[in-house]
Amino acid sequence: MRKQKANLLKILKDNNLTSPRHKLFTVNYEDIRSGKVTDAYFERTHRILETKKIKKRVRAEFTAKNLPSGWGIFTGLEEILGLFEGLPINIRSVPEGSVFKPFQPVMEIEGFYNDFDLLETAVLGLMCQSSGIATKSARCRIAAGSLKLLSFGARRMHPAISPMIERSSYIGGCDGVALVKGAEVLQIPPVGTMPHSLVIIMGSLTSALKAFDEIIEKDVPRVAIVDTFGDEKFEALEAANCLHDRLDAIRIDTPSSRRGILSEILTEVRWELNQAGFEKVKLFVSGGIDEAEILNLREYVDGGFGIGTSISSASVVDYSMDIIDIEGKPVSKKGKLSGGKHLLRCNDCFSEEVIPIDKPYGDCDLCGGEMSQHLASVMENGEKVKSLPSAKEIQNYVLLQIDRFSLDLK
Ligand SMILES: [Zn+2]
Repeated sequence: MRKQKANLLKILKDNNLTSPRHKLFTVNYEDIRSGKVTDAYFERTHRILETKKIKKRVRAEFTAKNLPSGWGIFTGLEEILGLFEGLPINIRSVPEGSVFKPFQPVMEIEGFYNDFDLLETAVLGLMCQSSGIATKSARCRIAAGSLKLLSFGARRMHPAISPMIERSSYIGGCDGVALVKGAEVLQIPPVGTMPHSLVIIMGSLTSALKAFDEIIEKDVPRVAIVDTFGDEKFEALEAANCLHDRLDAIRIDTPSSRRGILSEILTEVRWELNQAGFEKVKLFVSGGIDEAEILNLREYVDGGFGIGTSISSASVVDYSMDIIDIEGKPVSKKGKLSGGKHLLRCNDCFSEEVIPIDKPYGDCDLCGGEMSQHLASVMENGEKVKSLPSAKEIQNYVLLQIDRFSLDLK
């Protein structure tokens, strides 16, 4: 890998392709932090308030109302806290990876409005897109049960945001990610099988498999793609006969124009592999997979699914930010509930309640367990109040909640 990178860099340098004219249409952290990534009406509001010397302390709350199946997974907090570091504001938030319901506050910023008004556009973008991806990934996890889910969809989106996509997919419940840089950010090994291009360039499945087996590290699973030139059943047998016990799985990625009834193809491949004594070779499916397709195919698949576009291009969660309190006085636009709030969650039964922030609360009405502030302080005066969990810890939290809330796809 290091050698490949060095070669690529040399090609770029030799051809004078590393100059700044070859740019991406992206912004960097400083552009966002300085308020350049903002909608014009916030910039105009900012200038009006500054000119009129109006500076008011507010609470601004983040909520979403339209969620598939009535729940979502909140992510984006780590990037958001990085954006606010050093600013004179306080933030309360639910933990990253929290399951949330419509209208529940997931985050609240408290401070002078002028100090964060130019960041609203960026904060929403960070929160809305990553939460949408994590929510879709969690939906696929629910559909898949204990089958493996791999995130293959970075290629469908702008490469500059691919690590965020992979992190959100992983947090939502994918077991692994294909993108090398995404895996590096997550501190896990990248996963993958074998592209059609390897089979085409090597000339046959057998040549490709032998080369893969010879060159690639022994701890990387041997997964043969079995639909490049021939029939899935016969290529599966060819792969098994080529690698014998070293073949871990076959992957079926048949184009939709040739799929026919995929469940029957899978049944047939399983049958023939078993007939030939290759019961241990797993079946893995990719191509156009979403939670509905997982439900259709999961009884025919014993390996897992590679999921691309449906997760990486998931619909965003439409959070909005609304002022709910000015100078300690509850106020909000119509359609929103005014005033700071506690979002309480029972430590035992996970029941939840939203109450005004100044209202005292006791133990859980349902089970008598202790209620704790789920929306809790995470930043005070621009400083994080505690260290943040790892992506793996956040994923474990998501999986725990899927179970405890008995989340479904209705
Ligand atoms: Zn309870």
